[in-house]
Amino acid sequence: MYRSDLDRILARAFVKKPGLVYSEDYFMDLGLGHVFPAEKYSMAFQVLKKKGSVNSFHLLAPESATREMLLLAHSAPYVDALLALELTPMTQYSELPLNKVIVDAFCLAAGGTILAAREALKEGSAANIGGGFHHASADRAEGFCYLNDLAIAIRVLQQEKKIKKAAVIDCDLHQGNGTAKIFFQDPTVYTFSIHQEDNYPPKEESSWDIGLPDFTGDEEYLQHLALAVPKILDSFNPDLVLYQAGADPYMDDRLGQLSITKEGLQKRDRLVYAECRKRKIPVAVTLGGGYAEQVHDTVDIHCNSLEALL
Ligand SMILES: [Zn+2]
Repeated sequence: MYRSDLDRILARAFVKKPGLVYSEDYFMDLGLGHVFPAEKYSMAFQVLKKKGSVNSFHLLAPESATREMLLLAHSAPYVDALLALELTPMTQYSELPLNKVIVDAFCLAAGGTILAAREALKEGSAANIGGGFHHASADRAEGFCYLNDLAIAIRVLQQEKKIKKAAVIDCDLHQGNGTAKIFFQDPTVYTFSIHQEDNYPPKEESSWDIGLPDFTGDEEYLQHLALAVPKILDSFNPDLVLYQAGADPYMDDRLGQLSITKEGLQKRDRLVYAECRKRKIPVAVTLGGGYAEQVHDTVDIHCNSLEALL
């Protein structure tokens, strides 16, 4: 064997693969006809498997976030009510059933985002095929979100002193109101949200909000991002970016009207990753929302966001 062949084999062995976190237990039975397509997680994983691209990732299985971890981002009365499956004014606005299987799935998804964030710090990038539950605040469930996995992951890594500062780049159709509220005026966490203004939720104050008009379209959307993302990364210089890659800005989404094409969303993903990589800032990805008329469109968009890491 020539030296160059050996070098090539060794180089390949040391190529860093992005981490990909997934569990079959991300699935939640939400009852017939619920607008949240909980089957999208396993569908996305199966698509990546079928295409073979799953082999280019480092596959990881999540462990549930512990009660102590949840308490870093949520209040004790809220966590206690949630884990006891008690319907209270804090837990009742999720628009989801409240049962053990579903709460367990949220704890697991939070563990998944923690793991993806840890892996991103090691390998440069990683993704959770789940998570992105950005509407949950410290003491309130809402908008299909019981636990804010983004906030929990940031707080866990800060507590472990793995990071000091994090930025959340939230490109879901909806404002990341829970994340904004949890980190309001926290100098260690920058919250950025680009969303449809005239839509759910009632807005909280992020570090930077871009509220877009209906039917914005690719060109204007990408122009905003191309200006904002470098500016945030240069001025805040975070140790970690959590990228909330919601699929719901898509033109055929049932809950939104931002009119972004699949190609536009791919450009969005690549733009965020490229700006992070240029500055060697680790990026961890969560899927967030996605309610396209055809669930396979939502799955396609999520898979594109994951494969753009490769
Ligand atoms: Zn959304």
